[in-house]
Amino acid sequence: MSNDRITETLSRFNRGLVMVLTGNGKGKTTSAMGQALRAVGHGQKVLVIQFMKGKKYGEVLAAEGHLPGITIVQSGLDSFVMRDNPAPVDVELARQGLEMAREALAAGTHDMVILDEINVAVDFKLIPLSDLMDLIRNKPPAVDLILTGRYAPPEVVELADTVSEIQEIRHHYSKGMKERAGIEY
Ligand code: ATP
Ligand code: MG
Repeated sequence: MSNDRITETLSRFNRGLVMVLTGNGKGKTTSAMGQALRAVGHGQKVLVIQFMKGKKYGEVLAAEGHLPGITIVQSGLDSFVMRDNPAPVDVELARQGLEMAREALAAGTHDMVILDEINVAVDFKLIPLSDLMDLIRNKPPAVDLILTGRYAPPEVVELADTVSEIQEIRHHYSKGMKERAGIEY
C-alpha cells in the first residue's frame, strides 16, 4: 500500500474528538489541562480559551513560563458574572473568546482547542447555543475540541464523542476549607 493511502486511512481513523467535561464535582478544568499536558508532550499545539475567567490560575502561569506548546487566553474578567443579568462587557468578552476559537479552528493552527467553562457561558446566556453548535459542527476533522463546565446543554452532549460527568460526592469547602494555590487556582 502506498504511503499516501496509509496516511489517508490513518487520518480517517484518527478523527479529532469532541469531548465534554461537565457535572457538579471538582475536576473539570483540571482534567482538561491534563489532556492538554498529554497532547503537548507529543509535540501538539494546544489553545485554551478560558471563558468568564481573568485570574492568573496556576495553569496560566505554567503555560506562560514552561509550556510554549500551550497558549491560554482568558476571555473574561476576574469578577462574578450575573447569571440572569450579565453585564454587556461579559457578553462582549465571551463573544470575542468564541470568535478567537472560530478563527483558530479555521486557520488550523492548533491540534487541540479547549473551551474552558463554555458550557457555563452558554447557560448564563453570554453565548447563544446556536453559535456553539455551529462551531462544533464546523470543526476541522483532525482537531480535538474539549468543552468544559457545569450545565452542558443536551444538544452539545448529543453531538460529542466523549462525555464525562464529574459528580460531587464531597468537596472540602463543606469542611470550611478555603481556596488554595495549586488546588483551586
Ligand atoms: P477545577 O478547576 O478545580 O478542575 P472544576 O472546573 O470542576 O474545578 P468549576 O465548576 O469550574 O470546577 O468551579 C471552579 C471552582 O469551584 C474550583 O476551584 C473548585 O474548587 C470549586 N468547586 C468545584 N466543584 C465544587 C463543588 N462541588 N463544591 C464547591 N466548590 C466547588
Ligand atoms: Mg472549571
